[in-house]
Amino acid sequence: MTEIKKFTAKILKISEVAEATRFFELEILNFNDKTFGENFFSPGQFFLAHISPEITRAYSVCSISEDLPRFDLVIKILPNGKASNFFDNVKVGAEIKFSGSFGKFYPENFLQKKFFFATGTGISPIFSILKKIFLFPNLPQVKLFFGVRHLKNLFFQQKIQNWQEEFKNLSTQFCLSKPEKKTDFPIFQGRVTDAARLISAEEFDDAEIFLCGSNPMVNEMREILATKKVNKSQIKIESW
Ligand SMILES: Cc1cc2nc3c(=O)[nH]c(=O)nc-3n(C[C@H](O)[C@H](O)[C@H](O)COP(=O)(O)OP(=O)(O)OC[C@H]3O[C@@H](n4cnc5c(N)ncnc54)[C@H](O)[C@@H]3O)c2cc1C
Repeated sequence: MTEIKKFTAKILKISEVAEATRFFELEILNFNDKTFGENFFSPGQFFLAHISPEITRAYSVCSISEDLPRFDLVIKILPNGKASNFFDNVKVGAEIKFSGSFGKFYPENFLQKKFFFATGTGISPIFSILKKIFLFPNLPQVKLFFGVRHLKNLFFQQKIQNWQEEFKNLSTQFCLSKPEKKTDFPIFQGRVTDAARLISAEEFDDAEIFLCGSNPMVNEMREILATKKVNKSQIKIESW
């Protein structure tokens, strides 16, 4: 088991990547490979942001340990959310206290066939896992289903499409639950759960399956996978 570290990170850049969705590039101050250790975090894990003594919130890391001391977060700004309000107003150069890493949402075997089902910011830990998988010379079959409501809520699309072109073992379906009339790239019209229902039970054989996003999506996915006789031990879940 790895030791939990407390650390401070400075915001290097903030970008609006989709409606009310910010991408934060941060750098850990006084980072030292020896004290943090090479197992400081695994792709798919999260850090706690200690915003004030009363406000601590979990955020999945969307970068990988190879990027350290830099790391990235993608944060949805919720109306009236306490941490959201902080992240809505924080500026480049601000320093934030964190602890981590936490969570078990990471692959057991990077070379095993994978299915990823994400909604909204649930793509964040999956983005980290994908980034890591693509460092391996022998890629497993990877199927990614990324769902949002409208096109204006979609992000990381260009990066994922670039991966798609580079890595033939990756297949992606962007799913829009409120379809738009025209997009310049293929879109599945419906929820990720609708796309999942179309997958044959056999395709899930020997696959590791990652579910991340809203509670309703994750619960519905559990039911769908149960009807396809998928073993619970194949499924990893993170939801918020
Ligand atoms: C393991 C883990 C990883 C997480 N990773 C991320 C991440 O990568 N990016 C990210 O943006 N968030 C992530 N979260 C969610 C994050 O921790 C906060 O819960 C979120 O930012 C809201 O905090 P807040 O203080 O702004 O809202 P709060 O003040 O806690 O809540 C404000 C209001 O918003 C409502 N609300 C809370 N969540 C939602 C929601 N999802 N949709 C609509 N209304 C909601 C609440 O019911 C409440 O009324 C993660 C959570 C967990 C447990």
